[in-house]
Amino acid sequence: MKVTIDRPTCQAYGNCADEAPGVFDLDDLGYVRLAGDEEVPTGLEQEARAAVLSCPARALGTVD
Ligand code: SF4
Repeated sequence: MKVTIDRPTCQAYGNCADEAPGVFDLDDLGYVRLAGDEEVPTGLEQEARAAVLSCPARALGTVD
């Protein structure tokens, strides 16, 4: 599973990094970036999906 980020849509709410710190990280201004690469590490799929759903700006997605 991979995650997608639409950076221009991110509003720096930070929910994603709270939900899935192993997948999403925040830059110095609070905007999303990948914690690793776009491939979600084994075992973190469920929290990655939760993070995607937690984004109020709908800036995140998953690709199976
Ligand atoms: S939850 Fe959405 S809007 Fe907030 S930092 Fe993450 S991607 Fe950006």
